[in-house]
Amino acid sequence: MFVPVSRPLMGEIEEKYVGDAVRQKEISGLSRQFIPQFESEFAKFCTVKHAATVNSGTTAIHLAIATLGIGKGDEVLVASLTNMATFFAVLYEGATPIPIDSEPDTLNINPALLEAKITPRTKAIIVVHLYGHPCDMDPIMHIARAHNLYVIEDAAEAHGARYNGQVVGSIGDIGCFSFYSNKIITTGEGGMLTTNNDEWAARARLIKNLAFGNENKFMHQAIGFKYQMTNLQAALGAAQMTRVQDIIGRKREIAAYYNNLFAAELDIQTPIEKPYAFNVYWMYNVVLNGALSGKRKRIIDELKKRDIESREDFVPFNQQEIFIAQGIADPASCPVANRLGADGMYLPSGNDISPEELAYTAEQFLAVVRLVKSTV
Ligand SMILES: *Cc1c(COP(=O)(O)O)cnc(C)c1O
Repeated sequence: MFVPVSRPLMGEIEEKYVGDAVRQKEISGLSRQFIPQFESEFAKFCTVKHAATVNSGTTAIHLAIATLGIGKGDEVLVASLTNMATFFAVLYEGATPIPIDSEPDTLNINPALLEAKITPRTKAIIVVHLYGHPCDMDPIMHIARAHNLYVIEDAAEAHGARYNGQVVGSIGDIGCFSFYSNKIITTGEGGMLTTNNDEWAARARLIKNLAFGNENKFMHQAIGFKYQMTNLQAALGAAQMTRVQDIIGRKREIAAYYNNLFAAELDIQTPIEKPYAFNVYWMYNVVLNGALSGKRKRIIDELKKRDIESREDFVPFNQQEIFIAQGIADPASCPVANRLGADGMYLPSGNDISPEELAYTAEQFLAVVRLVKSTV
């Protein structure tokens, strides 16, 4: 038995819808059925007016930045502990990302640190609902409104997560989702931009497809991008929407199962659910504390010997060598993110994990943790 960190859940509906797209010969970004269907179902799921498909989560964030007109000379406050795609999207437009440290328990952006980083150049905040736990949105929205800043939600890991009952992707100005193969639902590669703002929705739709002209198609209205999702991918997405609630239910079962077994184990910080949160537990991430701090590599290697794949947490922006070399990142600037990034790891928790794989992983993880502790 080899247990991967994630395997997508694919079945007959996915096969049928993709087959339909092929038979209809609708294989590009031009689509009569699956793109509009996927967009309207996803908009309903997120309780927003508009949802626009794109070809990745990264391009969804870039499109959000470009749609809001953020660029050179502007500063954007960004959660330091994230997939670097969040930072790249800001850098693509020549804007300056300012990393913000994490809360130690949710791992999300710490709202208490925002105000001190705001300058006359600050234009936006990008929050990341990490591992499926929503950020503490009330204080974030309050600060943003007080300083006239946009809020972009990177919800790439948090489809269906809720903050005080409100679905992520509907709380800030623009929401961004990923449908990469290991995300909550998948189109292989893909993404979505969500918003309640008519003007931004129209702008995003225009520039995600080369900003073609109205009267003369080839008299372009702006410098556009080619960020279209294909109808083949949207067919997968529409099929996955029939399962999204089941998948979220399964994610919560997986987390509850691990949490229950690891609760009594000292030095393992397990994922939480704040009173305001409905966590969708994208990946089951633990932080190694105390006697286990600094032992991540050994634990990952021992798990690998037992045919269990696990993975290190993200390296925060301020620790990225390319940015330190450019002088735009200070390695010491986000001490909490640094610790979480260095001692965090996630266990197999894919949509298709079997009960046997889950039991085996939990049992072996506990055995490895005890082994490592006994040999420190
Ligand atoms: C996956 C992910 C992205 C990027 O999505 P892609 O579809 O891989 O481009 C961005 N932000 C976060 C937090 C992610 O987990």
